Amino acid sequence: YSTTIQFYQHFHFFFFLLCFIIDQEINPHVDQWEAEGKFPAHKIFKILGNAGFLGVNKPVKYGGLGLDFSYSVAVAEELGNIRCGGVPMAIGVQSDMATPALARFGSDELKEEFLLPSIMGDKVACLGVSEVGAGSDVSSIRTKAVRKGDEYVINGGKMWTTNGTQADWMCLLANTSDGPPHRNKSLICLPMNLPGVQIARKIDKLGMWSSDTAEVFFDDVRVPCKNVIGQEGMGFTYQMLQFQEERLWGVANILTAMDNIIQETIQYTGQRKVFRQPVLYHQSVHFRLAELQTEVELLRSLLYRATALYIKGNDVTKLASMAKLKGGRLTREVADSCLQYWGGMGFTSDVMVSRFYRDSRLLSIGGGADEVMLGIICKYMDTLPKK
Ligand SMILES: Cc1cc2nc3c(=O)[nH]c(=O)nc-3n(C[C@H](O)[C@H](O)[C@H](O)COP(=O)(O)OP(=O)(O)OC[C@H]3O[C@@H](n4cnc5c(N)ncnc54)[C@H](O)[C@@H]3O)c2cc1C
Repeated sequence: YSTTIQFYQHFHFFFFLLCFIIDQEINPHVDQWEAEGKFPAHKIFKILGNAGFLGVNKPVKYGGLGLDFSYSVAVAEELGNIRCGGVPMAIGVQSDMATPALARFGSDELKEEFLLPSIMGDKVACLGVSEVGAGSDVSSIRTKAVRKGDEYVINGGKMWTTNGTQADWMCLLANTSDGPPHRNKSLICLPMNLPGVQIARKIDKLGMWSSDTAEVFFDDVRVPCKNVIGQEGMGFTYQMLQFQEERLWGVANILTAMDNIIQETIQYTGQRKVFRQPVLYHQSVHFRLAELQTEVELLRSLLYRATALYIKGNDVTKLASMAKLKGGRLTREVADSCLQYWGGMGFTSDVMVSRFYRDSRLLSIGGGADEVMLGIICKYMDTLPKK
């Protein structure tokens, strides 16, 4: 019991430290990073890595805290207090999107070389799944890694790579054989400084401005075969497993951002008067905000239920897909309704709600679009047309 109390006190301090880092090292600079279209990933990841936030559920042997995934969810929720979507997304890519498969299936040597420095904040990671011609349908990617002796020679390209212009290594999904599309892919740890890796461009976007998004080309890039994560040919399966953590992380992160936007809207509409009374006093406004907050709480319960099952070793693909679908849709409703109540102010760049409106739109697209989530849910409900 006393150990639990000690841990709780320690953990309380842990979150206090994360709040402190967000308030001191991140939030004061967010406006500048948004304007510059990039944030200094190496600097911020080093600060977070030193404090243990990049490997919460990763093995202690590789610098992680060895806690279960529910703690990563708690950290993702806290990171929702960052005053933009781009920086938390970039942190999530490092801690919970590009590294879960490596931590679970990678060799000791690969973990030493890529996982440990990522957890410590010394190396920036990115995830290379999507391509120009393949996003929703991951099985149709074209990038090829052809075995020549004890090396792979990689040709192709990746699109939409978060952290791509700054990354030291990529968790790359590539075709390593001509077999069936779900069994011919492998995940490979690819150093980004190898000859033939080209950052083609940094993509201009509707939102998530402080997060750099790259298009990357591979032209005869040679990487040792030992850089393959786990078993060759298992990359598609590993990536689908990795997506579970990505999707739960994304939902956890957006929950706090939605709470904050609803609260800021309550404050603004509480003092802004229309027709001789605060905007908030109009029943359509306070009822709508109550409805939205209720839905946020429902989503939180679904997330916690999925997480509780996940940490006990269950397959939560269906619940995680439902949470991601609902998260994407709810955040669009919260952003749209809240922005409306800010009137013309909501349409300016001076307020958080307009940034939230732009940034949060991604959740229904990235990491699997709403329709992809519906497809997965239907598969589990066994309602898809039989071939
Ligand atoms: C800012 C940003 C950051 C990203 N970061 C990364 C990253 O770090 N790494 C990475 O690998 N990828 C990343 N992505 C890519 C992202 O995961 C893809 O954009 C997403 O999976 C959708 O793929 P797509 O853009 O190719 O859309 P498409 O596959 O062309 O789909 C277009 C639309 O078709 C519809 N659709 C899809 N499937 C169905 C269906 N079965 N039935 C009906 N309609 C359907 C959906 O509405 C979908 O939005 C990022 C994207 C963005 C915008």
